[in-house]
Amino acid sequence: MNINKTNVALQLHASGYCTHREFVTISGGSWGHTRYPAGYAVIQHPQHGVMLFDTGYASRFLETTRALPYSLYAKTTPVCLGESAASQLRRSGVQPEDVKRIIVSHFHGDHIAGLRDFPNAEFLASRAAYEAVKRLTGLAAVRRGFVPALLPDDFEQRLSPIEETPRIALPDGHPFHAVGGYDLFADGSLIAVDVSGHAAGQYGLFLRTERNECFLCADAVWSSAAYREDRPPHPAAGLIMPSRRQYRDTFQRIVQLHKRYPQLCIIPSHCMEAWNRYIEGGEVL
Ligand SMILES: [Zn+2]
Repeated sequence: MNINKTNVALQLHASGYCTHREFVTISGGSWGHTRYPAGYAVIQHPQHGVMLFDTGYASRFLETTRALPYSLYAKTTPVCLGESAASQLRRSGVQPEDVKRIIVSHFHGDHIAGLRDFPNAEFLASRAAYEAVKRLTGLAAVRRGFVPALLPDDFEQRLSPIEETPRIALPDGHPFHAVGGYDLFADGSLIAVDVSGHAAGQYGLFLRTERNECFLCADAVWSSAAYREDRPPHPAAGLIMPSRRQYRDTFQRIVQLHKRYPQLCIIPSHCMEAWNRYIEGGEVL
């Protein structure tokens, strides 16, 4: 694929999981409840150090969703907490205070619940995504999977919009060619592409490690089977989506991406198969 010019190191983690009926997330899925890990990634950049792609859950997710209307969110996606990103990093010798950047794919609670644990981090996120949620409260927020109390009070001052980083063209024939990308550090290490639909201004990330080319696609698809077998979610899942049409376009681009680049590791945030392969199995990406 050759769109990344600088290698990074990548580790995948999950900070717990939630459960859903499987058929909601994938066509032909079962009526039973399935576990969806709350994945996040630790990226080590050769110049810019350790950064995160999302944070997954943290215990404040439960505290901030105890009362109505936010409890509706916690009820529709029952959560089992695991170790938080901050605690996991501490255990591996990285102090949360030393994390200088967090890339926020989108503003759903299961992706931003840990942001407050990183007091010195700048937030690389879509300005459009932030604008879409920043005034939402109550039921309007819940409908968008957003819990305002999870955002640090000074989020806006620490926001560094992805849209202000250099634009980059993707190769002809690349399924995201028409979308284009943003070269977050202007060195070809992390290429952010718009994967909106599931959430407004959602961004995924192309990166390359020593061994693999990877695409962290956030919630553009919920499982590896979904893009491999072209099985989009149930229409009911569209209730939380700001744009079903955009969701379908993005979903198809990822189906095509896998067809065109079968070696590419496409990593959805909530895929148990990816979790088993890359995390439990200990495979180093
Ligand atoms: Zn989401």
